[in-house]
Amino acid sequence: MLNLLAPNPCSLCVWSDAVMHQLCQPCTKLLKEQAKQIFQAQDFADALPLDLVTGQPLPVFAASFYTPEMAKVLLKFKDHQRIKIAGFLRPIVYRTLHYASDTLGYSYYRVVPIPASGASMRKRGYNPVLTMLPRQLPPALNLDTGLLKTRWHLLTRAAHHGTGVQIRREQSRKKFRVSTRHTEPAEPVILIDDVLTTGATLAASARTLQAQGFDVVAAVVFSAVMPRG
Ligand SMILES: [Zn+2]
Repeated sequence: MLNLLAPNPCSLCVWSDAVMHQLCQPCTKLLKEQAKQIFQAQDFADALPLDLVTGQPLPVFAASFYTPEMAKVLLKFKDHQRIKIAGFLRPIVYRTLHYASDTLGYSYYRVVPIPASGASMRKRGYNPVLTMLPRQLPPALNLDTGLLKTRWHLLTRAAHHGTGVQIRREQSRKKFRVSTRHTEPAEPVILIDDVLTTGATLAASARTLQAQGFDVVAAVVFSAVMPRG
């Protein structure tokens, strides 16, 4: 029924015609407005790793808050094959990476995306985090998609043994591994993910990389969930 009204429905409001990137004009404007202010979100996420020297959490640069509108659009992008939304996301990701690298002040970086599990790749057919990356990264940033890998089989097996704190800690510690073709940790690492909630995924990734000698200096996310209250 809705499709009769809008043959190419907007991913957010559903009843208007999408003009570009599977979004209509007013929704594009609204979403751009919500993503115009980059901010640091590390104080909202309890599970982020703390710096051993300063005690400060890993800096996380967020392009937007996880508003109901952002949540809906990211869900459509991730789970409903609305893959052209990437055209809207990419310039924002570019800007946020650029801002993060400028703020941190190193001369070069390795950008490491949080890998998708094999199961979610099979379900979706694409990796949302890789798909939202700009085709060309800002200067001084080198993309490394092969460094961090998922260890999905360990996770699924652990899930059968309960969900206690110990088990969950074990799970998150074993969730990722570093590809063996990488032996030389060189430039500082910026992790990139779509949504920041507790920071547990970023923490597991950072710990895995740090154990192999990599210097994880920050993370960039598209949206950060606001704490309640
Ligand atoms: Zn719309």
